[in-house]
Amino acid sequence: MPLDELREECGVFGVYAPGMDVARLTYFGLYALQHRGQESAGIAASDGTDIHVHKRMGLVNTAFSEENLGSLSGHIAIGHTRYSTTGSSHPDNAGPMVARSHFGTVAVSHNGNLVNSDILRRELEESGVEFKTTTDSEVLTWRIALNFGPDIVSRVKQAMSRFVGAYSLAVLLPDALVGVRDPHGIRPLCLGRVDGGWVLASETCAFQTIGASYERELEPGEIVVIDHNGVTSYPPDESRKREAMCIFETIYFARPDSFMKGDRLHLTRQRMGAELYREHPVDADIVVPLPDSSVPAAIGFARESGIEYAEALIKNRYIGRTFIQPDQRLREQGVQLKFNALPEVLEGKRVALIDDTIVRGTTSKPIVDLLRNNGATEVHMRVHAPPIKWPCYLGVDMAKRSELIAAHLSVEEIGQKIGADSIGYLSLEGLLKAINAGRNGFCTGCLTGQYPVPVQMEMDKLSLEKV
Ligand code: AMP
Repeated sequence: MPLDELREECGVFGVYAPGMDVARLTYFGLYALQHRGQESAGIAASDGTDIHVHKRMGLVNTAFSEENLGSLSGHIAIGHTRYSTTGSSHPDNAGPMVARSHFGTVAVSHNGNLVNSDILRRELEESGVEFKTTTDSEVLTWRIALNFGPDIVSRVKQAMSRFVGAYSLAVLLPDALVGVRDPHGIRPLCLGRVDGGWVLASETCAFQTIGASYERELEPGEIVVIDHNGVTSYPPDESRKREAMCIFETIYFARPDSFMKGDRLHLTRQRMGAELYREHPVDADIVVPLPDSSVPAAIGFARESGIEYAEALIKNRYIGRTFIQPDQRLREQGVQLKFNALPEVLEGKRVALIDDTIVRGTTSKPIVDLLRNNGATEVHMRVHAPPIKWPCYLGVDMAKRSELIAAHLSVEEIGQKIGADSIGYLSLEGLLKAINAGRNGFCTGCLTGQYPVPVQMEMDKLSLEKV
């Protein structure tokens, strides 16, 4: 399977709540998780005997009509939002995945990437499975569906013993909802409580949206079964548990109102901004965030430095991610479509511009130019994460190594290329300090090239050599 197809981002949701409109709860839960995937959305619901599914390309609000939601009756549901690279953008690839076999029906919402899915897929094909999609999520679903065992927990455990990579799962059976987190806990998954039932979600922001209360994060390697007996937890096998949560979730990917590792990310990111100022102080008149993702860090930077916080860039919220544009020219156009500057705020000002990350470097140069053209006398770029030098193989669409600007250029060269007067990135130590965590609990693959599982980097190395 081409490595490109291994890159995808997703949001996962699940609810077990007899007497409630679970499809509608899932619909609103997915709304809150829209930032984790904007390409397709789907819901599968069970009425206790049968599983029905509806999935479509597009945003959550375009993927479902009142009629679709009405057809998803039952008391258990799971939902999925997905974003992948253009190569694998196909309606069939939308989640949740459903496998119907003589063992019964299983539907799965998956966030993450299996790095050994090609081997598992071949094995399943040899045993007669006909795949409808090119996703690792379908491989994983069949792997769970076709395991023989006395109960779902032993079936999931058997499947997990073969999975290598990142997987946070909401598994729907006709009579139960199962939550699973891989032994590294690479992608988040949380448990919440709703009137008369239980909820699973990638991020806690979804709980607030539907009026559920946050209970806890699932532990790495934990399985929870939610059924008429309530929640039964199957703790991880301690010998296999090696916590390595994606550090990029804390920097950019997860919503700032979500709780992660016991902390509200808005506050975590404020500390990243404060730490960034301590590491890379600057003489500036205003601190300007690149909206929306770097607002919390800019607040922290402004507080720590005593420099005035100012909004000088206005984002059009209805233009999708510039990332989604298929080629570089359209991506550059995307920046202009997305931001306008306020000359009244910028005139004669020395600006400290805060961003969470520089990936390809597409956004930064036009933004620096935009600030200058609207009156800024100096633009000092400050980034609240270390340089991204390596791709993500475990569930974030981060571009190929050949496309990552920091894989080829030094920090100074990046500053020159984007036309900034100075540039500073937060160090890994500073980042971990802001998160209040040790390095061991995180996957820092995109920053260090050290991943918690063996990933295949050969293709990217080759493409890098061609540059
Ligand atoms: P680039 O223009 O490629 O350097 O992208 C950097 C911008 O994209 C930053 O302003 C980030 O807020 C945002 N960004 C970073 N990572 C991602 C991602 N995985 N998906 C979408 N946007 C991202």
